Amino acid sequence: MAKAFPDELVFVPLGGVGEIGMNMGAYGFGPRNARKWIVVDCGVTFAGPSQPGIELIMADPTFLEDNADDVLALILTHSHEDHYGAVLDLWPAFDRPVYATDFTAAMLTAKRAADNIVDNVAIRRMVVGQPFTVGPFTVEAINVAHSIPESCALAITTSIGRVIHTGDWKLDPNPTGNAPTDEKRLAELGAEGVPTALICDSTNALKDGTSPSEEAVAANLAELIASAPHRVAITTFASNVGRLIAVARAAEQAGRQVVMSGRAMHRISTIARELGMMEGIAPFLDQDAFKTLPRNKIVVLCTGSQGEARAAVARIARGEHPAIDLNAGDRMIFSSWAIPGNEREVIDLQNMFIDRGIEIVTQNDRLVHTTGHPRREELKRMYDLVKPQTLVPVHGEAAHLEAHAALGRQHGIENVVHARNGDMVRLFPDVSHFPGEVRTGELYLDGNILCTPDESGVKERRRLSFGGHIVVSLCVNGSGQVVSGPDVSIEGLPQVEDDDESVDALVRGVVNGTLKSIPPKRRSDPELVDSALQRAVRGEVNAWWGKKPNVTVFVHRI
Ligand SMILES: [Zn+2]
Ligand SMILES: [Zn+2]
Repeated sequence: MAKAFPDELVFVPLGGVGEIGMNMGAYGFGPRNARKWIVVDCGVTFAGPSQPGIELIMADPTFLEDNADDVLALILTHSHEDHYGAVLDLWPAFDRPVYATDFTAAMLTAKRAADNIVDNVAIRRMVVGQPFTVGPFTVEAINVAHSIPESCALAITTSIGRVIHTGDWKLDPNPTGNAPTDEKRLAELGAEGVPTALICDSTNALKDGTSPSEEAVAANLAELIASAPHRVAITTFASNVGRLIAVARAAEQAGRQVVMSGRAMHRISTIARELGMMEGIAPFLDQDAFKTLPRNKIVVLCTGSQGEARAAVARIARGEHPAIDLNAGDRMIFSSWAIPGNEREVIDLQNMFIDRGIEIVTQNDRLVHTTGHPRREELKRMYDLVKPQTLVPVHGEAAHLEAHAALGRQHGIENVVHARNGDMVRLFPDVSHFPGEVRTGELYLDGNILCTPDESGVKERRRLSFGGHIVVSLCVNGSGQVVSGPDVSIEGLPQVEDDDESVDALVRGVVNGTLKSIPPKRRSDPELVDSALQRAVRGEVNAWWGKKPNVTVFVHRI
């Protein structure tokens, strides 16, 4: 049969467009009834206090599952959790290869080993500058500077147009331990005159100017380490290998040795060393070396910059670390920023150090951390290099996406698309936008179970956390006599000691009073007793507490 529809190239963001985190996007090529798909990134978001008990959140892949036969591959831009954290949860079901650079592949393999996951994910090696084909797509990875090694932009070329999917990037001429953004290659692609759409990082689109360089951060860290009278401890993101290298070099210059604490940091620095990224860097010592080194000959590198209670830096702050102890006069550097949602934990951690007389240095005091994302001048430079006719801002909350879109329009980009998760954007041969075209949403990882928010029970969990739980249980016989119970169990309600009446006595009193008030004949009706007790207990407790508890009543008739 003749082809009914022309070829088109579409982009479908499934996560990360409208929020920061859980990035996942799909590119589809072909006639509209027979598209082939590649997926770029498969990340997670960390749950907040409104999702009690949930570990991770990821994009709902139902749309891809519905097209599973035509999904050809997953391509990873880099190994930050928001880009690759869901691969081992979601991708095995597709039984299709994952393309990744050596570092990203090693991170995935290490995660698989750490979590004891056995799966069928085949990893294919992606090498910068060596294009490969997947069905109708030719994909080329291009170096971009970011806060982790081997971050890549992707040039995805088809017979009708090209996409530059930037991934996370910045322009940093001197990114310690990482390759700089390959502006030359981007410019070459831009000069080819192929119709181009730019799918681009919006994280810092509200910020003017240019992001500070890793080199400037390294210089500040070196100065702070050299000038410290006693110990120096530094916490940073474990995956920021460039930062670990900067600290190691600064320590060496200052005649100090680096002691490392934190499993993730050990794991990632081992990977970096195995891949030859740390040539000339002295080995990091294990935490047990801490006590053997003089106070002014040591730099501690530790995990936990987000205030995680069980991580090394929180244990050091509480004086509970098995090997590492800081004293008044030591210097603690937070070479990091607090990811939104973690601010309180980080401030609490910093206050613990201050209370103990330990000097803290944060990015508010000195340039000891820099972003991995482009500010406005860098975004404009990217537009000039790539010369896109179409811009789709991604990787941001609504405010970031809107600011990025406005910047693109100001800069004269012809088509600027305000897409959100679940939209379908036709990029070629012409641009059009179909909001809400595909099913999207979130999946929660709750213990071992992956489920939708509706399936998760989180709503009830939240309700329980506000209202506690009262259970009343009793047996009645056919003539309405209570033959067993009532038993009462109360969880999560206030137990005020010198209140005239305890909540237990209050609930028992209401239950007994209510039972008495029901004529014996009607008391043999379990449903009636159930609803009378529910109402009475909720009402009485509300009158006392000012809040309605969750109440469950079991009435058995024997
Ligand atoms: Zn990243
Ligand atoms: Zn990211």
